[in-house]
Amino acid sequence: MSDLLALYQEVILDHNKQPRNFGELPGCDHHAEGHNPLCGDQLTIDLALDGERIADLRFRGQGCAISTASASLMTEAVKGLTLDEAAALFDGFHEMLTGDPSQPADAAGLGKLAVFSGVREFPIRVKCATLPWHTLRAALSGSGEAVSTE
Ligand code: ZN
Repeated sequence: MSDLLALYQEVILDHNKQPRNFGELPGCDHHAEGHNPLCGDQLTIDLALDGERIADLRFRGQGCAISTASASLMTEAVKGLTLDEAAALFDGFHEMLTGDPSQPADAAGLGKLAVFSGVREFPIRVKCATLPWHTLRAALSGSGEAVSTE
Protein backbone atom coordinates (compact mmCIF):
# COMPACT_ATOMS: atom_id res chain seq x y z
CA MET A 1 0.00 0.00 0.00
CA SER A 2 1.33 3.43 -0.86
CA ASP A 3 1.97 6.00 1.86
CA LEU A 4 -0.87 8.13 0.51
CA LEU A 5 -3.40 5.29 0.65
CA ALA A 6 -2.25 4.40 4.15
CA LEU A 7 -2.78 8.02 5.19
CA TYR A 8 -6.22 8.07 3.58
CA GLN A 9 -7.17 4.90 5.39
CA GLU A 10 -6.00 6.39 8.67
CA VAL A 11 -8.24 9.45 8.19
CA ILE A 12 -11.24 7.23 7.38
CA LEU A 13 -10.66 5.03 10.43
CA ASP A 14 -10.24 8.09 12.65
CA HIS A 15 -13.52 9.63 11.48
CA ASN A 16 -15.28 6.29 11.89
CA LYS A 17 -14.03 5.95 15.44
CA GLN A 18 -14.64 9.56 16.42
CA PRO A 19 -17.28 10.97 14.09
CA ARG A 20 -17.42 14.78 13.97
CA ASN A 21 -20.73 16.61 14.28
CA PHE A 22 -22.42 13.47 15.55
CA GLY A 23 -25.76 13.77 17.32
CA GLU A 24 -28.96 15.75 17.10
CA LEU A 25 -29.36 19.39 16.22
CA PRO A 26 -32.21 20.60 18.40
CA GLY A 27 -34.70 22.98 16.87
CA CYS A 28 -33.49 22.59 13.31
CA ASP A 29 -36.05 22.74 10.52
CA HIS A 30 -34.40 20.49 7.93
CA HIS A 31 -33.78 16.81 8.31
CA ALA A 32 -33.84 13.61 6.30
CA GLU A 33 -33.17 9.92 6.72
CA GLY A 34 -31.07 7.83 4.40
CA HIS A 35 -30.78 4.10 3.99
CA ASN A 36 -28.42 1.93 1.98
CA PRO A 37 -30.05 -1.53 1.98
CA LEU A 38 -27.08 -3.16 0.25
CA CYS A 39 -24.86 -2.53 3.23
CA GLY A 40 -27.34 -1.73 5.99
CA ASP A 41 -26.15 1.86 6.48
CA GLN A 42 -28.73 4.11 8.07
CA LEU A 43 -28.39 7.73 9.00
CA THR A 44 -30.31 10.87 9.83
CA ILE A 45 -29.13 14.37 9.04
CA ASP A 46 -30.28 17.48 10.89
CA LEU A 47 -29.46 20.80 9.37
CA ALA A 48 -29.96 24.49 10.04
CA LEU A 49 -29.85 27.06 7.26
CA ASP A 50 -28.95 30.71 7.52
CA GLY A 51 -30.43 32.12 4.33
CA GLU A 52 -28.60 30.32 1.51
CA ARG A 53 -25.85 29.07 3.79
CA ILE A 54 -25.55 25.82 5.75
CA ALA A 55 -25.14 27.21 9.27
CA ASP A 56 -24.84 23.90 11.08
CA LEU A 57 -25.50 20.22 10.60
CA ARG A 58 -25.21 16.97 12.48
CA PHE A 59 -25.75 13.33 11.70
CA ARG A 60 -26.54 10.19 13.62
CA GLY A 61 -27.22 6.58 12.79
CA GLN A 62 -25.36 3.38 12.19
CA GLY A 63 -23.36 2.28 9.25
CA CYS A 64 -20.11 0.82 8.02
CA ALA A 65 -16.80 2.63 8.41
CA ILE A 66 -17.04 4.19 4.95
CA SER A 67 -20.54 5.65 5.42
CA THR A 68 -19.81 6.92 8.93
CA ALA A 69 -16.50 8.50 7.93
CA SER A 70 -18.10 9.96 4.82
CA ALA A 71 -20.91 11.54 6.86
CA SER A 72 -18.38 12.90 9.36
CA LEU A 73 -16.11 14.40 6.70
CA MET A 74 -19.10 15.73 4.78
CA THR A 75 -20.42 17.65 7.77
CA GLU A 76 -17.00 19.26 8.19
CA ALA A 77 -16.74 20.02 4.48
CA VAL A 78 -20.14 21.64 3.93
CA LYS A 79 -20.60 23.58 7.18
CA GLY A 80 -20.57 27.25 6.26
CA LEU A 81 -20.96 26.65 2.52
CA THR A 82 -23.76 28.09 0.41
CA LEU A 83 -26.22 25.63 -1.10
CA ASP A 84 -24.63 26.09 -4.53
CA GLU A 85 -21.16 25.45 -3.16
CA ALA A 86 -22.34 22.30 -1.36
CA ALA A 87 -24.02 21.03 -4.55
CA ALA A 88 -20.84 21.64 -6.55
CA LEU A 89 -18.81 19.78 -3.93
CA PHE A 90 -21.18 16.81 -4.17
CA ASP A 91 -20.83 16.81 -7.96
CA GLY A 92 -17.05 16.72 -7.69
CA PHE A 93 -17.16 14.04 -5.01
CA HIS A 94 -19.56 11.91 -7.02
CA GLU A 95 -17.39 12.25 -10.11
CA MET A 96 -14.29 11.20 -8.18
CA LEU A 97 -16.08 8.07 -6.92
CA THR A 98 -17.68 6.96 -10.17
CA GLY A 99 -14.91 7.79 -12.64
CA ASP A 100 -12.90 5.22 -14.59
CA PRO A 101 -10.99 3.21 -11.94
CA SER A 102 -8.05 2.72 -14.32
CA GLN A 103 -7.46 6.48 -14.34
CA PRO A 104 -6.13 8.46 -11.39
CA ALA A 105 -8.99 10.08 -9.48
CA ASP A 106 -9.40 13.81 -9.85
CA ALA A 107 -9.71 15.10 -6.31
CA ALA A 108 -8.89 18.72 -7.12
CA GLY A 109 -10.88 21.09 -4.96
CA LEU A 110 -12.21 18.33 -2.74
CA GLY A 111 -9.84 18.87 0.17
CA LYS A 112 -10.02 16.11 2.76
CA LEU A 113 -12.75 14.33 0.79
CA ALA A 114 -9.91 13.02 -1.39
CA VAL A 115 -9.45 10.27 1.21
CA PHE A 116 -12.33 8.44 -0.50
CA SER A 117 -10.65 8.36 -3.91
CA GLY A 118 -9.76 4.68 -3.42
CA VAL A 119 -13.45 3.80 -3.08
CA ARG A 120 -13.87 4.00 -6.88
CA GLU A 121 -12.16 0.61 -7.06
CA PHE A 122 -14.97 -0.90 -4.96
CA PRO A 123 -18.27 -0.03 -6.69
CA ILE A 124 -20.36 -1.62 -3.96
CA ARG A 125 -18.83 0.87 -1.49
CA VAL A 126 -19.66 3.91 -3.60
CA LYS A 127 -23.19 3.92 -2.21
CA CYS A 128 -21.84 3.86 1.33
CA ALA A 129 -19.75 6.95 0.59
CA THR A 130 -22.50 8.85 -1.24
CA LEU A 131 -25.41 8.00 1.10
CA PRO A 132 -24.73 10.95 3.45
CA TRP A 133 -24.66 13.31 0.46
CA HIS A 134 -27.93 12.02 -0.97
CA THR A 135 -29.43 12.39 2.49
CA LEU A 136 -28.09 15.93 2.77
CA ARG A 137 -29.71 16.80 -0.54
CA ALA A 138 -33.01 15.36 0.65
CA ALA A 139 -32.77 17.39 3.86
CA LEU A 140 -32.18 20.54 1.83
CA SER A 141 -35.04 19.86 -0.54
CA GLY A 142 -37.24 19.52 2.51
CA SER A 143 -39.27 16.69 1.03
CA GLY A 144 -39.13 14.87 4.36
CA GLU A 145 -39.04 11.54 2.57
CA ALA A 146 -36.51 8.87 3.43
CA VAL A 147 -33.79 8.35 0.86
CA SER A 148 -32.74 4.94 -0.31
CA THR A 149 -29.77 4.17 -2.52
CA GLU A 150 -31.82 1.42 -4.17
ZN1 ZN B 1 -21.82 0.81 4.01
